[in-house]
Amino acid sequence: MQPLPPDVPHADPKPLYASRTKIHPRRISGSFRKLKDVMLWGFLALYHLSPWLPWDRGANKPDQAILFDISGKRIYLFNLEIWPHDIYMLTGIMIIAAVGLFMSAALIGRAWCGFACFQTIWTDLFMKVEAFIEGDRNARIRLDHAKRGAKHAIWLMISAFFALSFLWYFGDAANQTRELFSGEIGGWSLVTFLTLMAMTYLMAGFAREQVCFYMCPYGRFQGVMFDEHSKVVTYESWRGESRGKPGKNRDFENRGHCVDCSLCVQVCPTGIDIRDGQQMECIGCALCIDACNDVMEKFGLPKNLISYDSAHNIALRSGAKKVGTLSKFWRPRTFIYGFILLATLGVTSYALHTRDLLEVNIMKDRAPFYVTLSSGQIQNAYTLSILNKSNQTRHYSIDVNATNQPSFQLIGQDDNHIRLESGKVTSLRLLVRGEMPKDAYGTLPLEITLRDPRHHPIKVEETVFNGPK
Ligand code: SF4
Ligand code: SF4
Repeated sequence: MQPLPPDVPHADPKPLYASRTKIHPRRISGSFRKLKDVMLWGFLALYHLSPWLPWDRGANKPDQAILFDISGKRIYLFNLEIWPHDIYMLTGIMIIAAVGLFMSAALIGRAWCGFACFQTIWTDLFMKVEAFIEGDRNARIRLDHAKRGAKHAIWLMISAFFALSFLWYFGDAANQTRELFSGEIGGWSLVTFLTLMAMTYLMAGFAREQVCFYMCPYGRFQGVMFDEHSKVVTYESWRGESRGKPGKNRDFENRGHCVDCSLCVQVCPTGIDIRDGQQMECIGCALCIDACNDVMEKFGLPKNLISYDSAHNIALRSGAKKVGTLSKFWRPRTFIYGFILLATLGVTSYALHTRDLLEVNIMKDRAPFYVTLSSGQIQNAYTLSILNKSNQTRHYSIDVNATNQPSFQLIGQDDNHIRLESGKVTSLRLLVRGEMPKDAYGTLPLEITLRDPRHHPIKVEETVFNGPK
C-alpha cells in the first residue's frame, strides 16, 4: 500500500443555514466509551453531592462546604471565605480556568468538550435514557416520530434534579429541598429552578449538538489554539484510502484499510464523518475511534485508523515527514500557557494567604473639617468601619497618635474597647481633640491604631487632623 500524504482533507464548505437532521447515535463500547462513562458518573456525583459536604465553621456560620451565599454577600469554599472585597480572587480563579482550558486545547484538543463539558454530560445521560427506553439506533430511527411519554418523564425528572442541585449551591441544601417539595419555594429560587429545568430539558433533550455548533463560543475559536503537535481525533487518510467494501477474500493489498462501513459516522453524537477531515463540529469524544478499532479488529488490521494523535506524529507515521521526533509536550504555546497558569496560581494563592482578615475604613468628616471648642481646642470627627473577616469573635482597642498628642472619644462608649463577632461589621464615630501647632499650617498627620487584647498593634490607618492655618 502506497502511503498517501497525511494532509487532512477538508470537508466541503457547509451552507450558512441548514435545517437540522436528527441524529441517532449508535451505542458503542470501547476504551474511550469507558472513560466517558467514568467521567459522566464522576462529574454527576461531584455536582450533585458537593453541596451536601459538611464543613464546620463554628457557631452562626453555614456548615456547607460549598455555598454561594448571595444575601450574606459571601462565598464559602471549604476553609475559604470570600468577601465582596476579595472578588479579585475570583478573577484569578477565572483566569486559571480559562488558561487551563487553552492549555488543554493545545495539548489534547477538544477533550474538554467531548468528556467533561456539562452540555456533553447531560446530553450523554439523556441519550442513555433514550436508548434504554427506545432501543439502539435502528429502533430509534423507526420510532422517530412516536411519542415516548416515559422518556420525556425521565428527562424532566433529571432536569428537575439538575435544577434543584443548582439551588443547593446558593442556600441550605436541606432547606431548599424541603421548600421545593412543600411548595414554599418562591421568588428568584422558583424562577431559577424553572428556568434551569426547562433549559436542561431543551438543551440536552432536543438542541444537543446544535448547542456546540451554534451557541458555544469555545468551539468556534478553539481551532486557533491547536498546532501540529496538538492531539486531536483524526482519520489517518494515508492508511485508510482508498476506501471500499472489503470483498469476499478480504484482500487489503493495493487499497486502504477503511472498509467504508460508516460505523464511525453512526456512533458520532454530532453526526459528522471524520473521514472528511477536521471539522468544527467534532467535539473530540473519540467514540469513532472505538467504533473503528472494533472494525479493524474484526478484519485483523492494525488499530487506530482513526486516532487521537497530533498531525506531526501522523505525518511521521505516514512517511510524509522523514525525520523528526514525536510531538513534544513543551512547545512555545504550552510553555506560555503553563507560565501564565503558574504565575496566576502563585499570585492568587499568595493573595489568599496574605489577605487581611480585618478591614478598617476611615472616613473623615468634611463638613465641617474641624470645630473650635469653647476651650480653644480643635475637634475633628471620623467614621470608622471595622469588618471582622476571621472565624472568631475579636476584641480590639483603639489608639490615636499625632504630634499634638490629642485626646479621643468613641461616641456612645465609656471606653475604647470594641467587641466584634465573626463576619460582622461595625461603624463607630470617633472624636479627636487637640491643639493645632502654629507650624502645622492647618494639617497634622494622624494615626489610628487598632490593638489586640495584648495591646499589640494589628492595624494602623493614616489620616489627618485639620485645624485653622
Ligand atoms: S467525529 Fe468522532 S470524535 Fe468527533 S464528535 Fe464525531 S465521534 Fe466524536
Ligand atoms: S469505522 Fe473505520 S472502517 Fe468503518 S467507515 Fe469509519 S473509518 Fe472506515
